[in-house]
Amino acid sequence: MTQLPSAETLRDQILYHLTHTQGRGEEFATTFDWRLAVSYTIRDLIVTPWMAALRGARDQGRKRVYYLSMEFLIGRILEDAIINLGLNDSMDGALDLLGLNKQQILDDEPDAALGNGGLGRLAACFMESLSSLSVPAFGYGIRYEHGLFRQRFEAGQQVETPEDWLNQPHPWEFVRLDYSYAIGFKGHVEQVDGRAVWHPGESVIARAYDTPVIGWQGDWANTLRLWGAHPTTLFDLHRFNAGDHTAAAEPEALARTISRVLYPDDGTESGKELRLKQEYFLTAAALQDILRRFLSEHDDLRQLPDKVAIQLNDTHPAIAGPELIRLLMDDHGMDFPTARDIARGTLNYTNHTLLPEALERWSTWLMGRVLPRHMQIIQMIDDDHRLQTRRPDHLGIVHHDEVRMGELAFVMAGRVNGVSALHTDLVKSTVFADLNRLHPGRIVNQTNGVTPRRWLRMSNPALSAVLDDVIGTGWTGDLDQLRGLEPHAEDPALLARLRAAKRANKVWLSDGLLAGLGVRADPDAIFDVQVKRIHEYKRQLLNILEAIALWRRIHDDPNGDWVPRVKIFGGKAAPGYWLAKTVIHLINDVAATINTDPVTRDFLQIAYPPNYNVSMAEDLIPAADLSEQISTAGKEASGTGNMKFTMNGALTIGTLDGANVEIRDHVGPENFFLFGLTADKVDQARARPGHARAAIEASDDLSAALHMIAEGRFGRPEPYFALLDRTWNDDPFLVASDFDDYFAAQRQVDAAYRDPARWDRMAALNIARSGFFSSDRTIRGYLRDIWKLEPGA
Ligand SMILES: *Cc1c(COP(=O)(O)O)cnc(C)c1O
Repeated sequence: MTQLPSAETLRDQILYHLTHTQGRGEEFATTFDWRLAVSYTIRDLIVTPWMAALRGARDQGRKRVYYLSMEFLIGRILEDAIINLGLNDSMDGALDLLGLNKQQILDDEPDAALGNGGLGRLAACFMESLSSLSVPAFGYGIRYEHGLFRQRFEAGQQVETPEDWLNQPHPWEFVRLDYSYAIGFKGHVEQVDGRAVWHPGESVIARAYDTPVIGWQGDWANTLRLWGAHPTTLFDLHRFNAGDHTAAAEPEALARTISRVLYPDDGTESGKELRLKQEYFLTAAALQDILRRFLSEHDDLRQLPDKVAIQLNDTHPAIAGPELIRLLMDDHGMDFPTARDIARGTLNYTNHTLLPEALERWSTWLMGRVLPRHMQIIQMIDDDHRLQTRRPDHLGIVHHDEVRMGELAFVMAGRVNGVSALHTDLVKSTVFADLNRLHPGRIVNQTNGVTPRRWLRMSNPALSAVLDDVIGTGWTGDLDQLRGLEPHAEDPALLARLRAAKRANKVWLSDGLLAGLGVRADPDAIFDVQVKRIHEYKRQLLNILEAIALWRRIHDDPNGDWVPRVKIFGGKAAPGYWLAKTVIHLINDVAATINTDPVTRDFLQIAYPPNYNVSMAEDLIPAADLSEQISTAGKEASGTGNMKFTMNGALTIGTLDGANVEIRDHVGPENFFLFGLTADKVDQARARPGHARAAIEASDDLSAALHMIAEGRFGRPEPYFALLDRTWNDDPFLVASDFDDYFAAQRQVDAAYRDPARWDRMAALNIARSGFFSSDRTIRGYLRDIWKLEPGA
């Protein structure tokens, strides 16, 4: 931007919008009114670069990136936009002039929670980095009326309530009535003059709702286009006039179910037909929009791969392969091989998990019923692939009456990528070993990243101020510049400033935990944080068992030299994931007992604030000393929470899993607390009969902890019997095998924390060496290796 508006100009604009957009006088305005007036003021300043970016991309005929994702876990938008526009100081001035409390206004904004966890947050970080790198891009997703459920605890147990962010006006979106597409389902396929014609039995309208995503320094904005489902015929006036008022509104209600709720699970399947419809709805709307835009600028669809790069975020939009072939064949008259090659030149697929229960499969029966023409095309793709690869024996896409979406996505993709070095190696050697042999070079790695604008500059102003002072402000747009901190890592003055910034964040969080939960968190204790979805493989159970064992040891020796610790948990369990919910219950039960123990309470506290989301992550991560990244090796594809902690100066206790491996390589093994089995040992360990029982019996700490749960030391034990039984007898994620090593690593953490000079130096080096984990670096990798286009100026 050329000229930044002053505080006075912003004040005038806010007052203008309060009066003319909100229709309120100052004396009647609520926080909500002010927040909208501020948001519209900021939005006005985004629109100009946004229009310029859209126009520039069209006029220069630039290749565009299209990121298709069922999830975008955006969080709040206002503060991020203020910071990217460089208006933080003048906005502070404007709000001071108006006598308004900035924090109150920012906190009034609901999180846009259109995602479950890491996968959706990655999509949001990518959108921000694409704009910051001036790459012409669209994100395509679904405008869920209800995002991820809200979590409360009742008697320690998770209770879900619907999320309703769209119950109030959403100031960031622009509805585009002119970009509406009909999306069909079901029906039958007819052959007319050698061409297939699909007659859908149902259809809905996909309507575009656009949100601009402004990049760092406000030079460029891309569009996040979310599709809302609407009925083709709004309302049955006939039935209404006949007195059947409810039935008259049925078409509307039916259509809207498609964009009503975010699928609340990133692991298992349910609500199958609706989920498949949602996936097709997103994909079909996006592809119609992409082809419309392409044909408005070019005439020959054979040039599609030169102008369009489509990324499929996991297999959820993998129906894009058959859908694009269908459009090219049935609507544009191409033959199958031509359509196939164009689709493969355009589409790419990111694999996010190796967990078998998360690899999507649809029964051929359901696929054939909901998408009959696509089922035919999937068969054609499968047969053709066998023929082309001369592998009639190949298991293929359709197998045992199921369509395997991973294989479909792979076969139709120009490039397939994993999300960390270890994960990509495992993708090559396990799920896609066969396809990798048939298509060497197709699989590439792009280690995930996070945007330093939201996850450092915005969420950690205290640390950012120190960085700006010591190495200048350039790091925000070029995170490798954090290296400039390294020569100062021995400087006591710098370490003291970093420590003061961390302590300020801890004091702030501590006040919040006391007010919100009544938990006393001493800011001088280790703030030990595990925040992420609750899942067995992420092993929150290991963490809470360590807490119990530690509690017991402190009890046995209350005058010992214990290092005070506050264990902080955050995370939601999928509503149908019973074991994960049991772990939540256990953490809360253990906290209730331990926190009030007069003997240990100065040494150990446990806090579990409910409803973990992006905004909570922004508060917790800058205040963390220790980052828990303790998944069973080989199970966490990458993790991105781990990266946020590292750049905020928390040290990691972790396994060699996902991007932990690369974090440790970058920060140095001496600045990372490693424990646990490696991925290549995990399967062996699990195959040993009685592995868990043997490990428990060999560990005094672990067997005592498990017995204390069984004996009812933390409330009624009955709810935990099944969990305990599984831990003793099955323990597929090797909590028992890794326990002693984890417990010992935690004592190394204690020892390091006792030596502040050592700890501070380690933290400083973690920050200084975290530049690699910027999503700007990830996006440059995609541009170079997958999308084949250049970043902008
Ligand atoms: C970053 C983030 C995640 C991903 O965390 P992992 O530890 O990588 O699983 C999940 N939820 C929210 C709200 C996040 O900000």
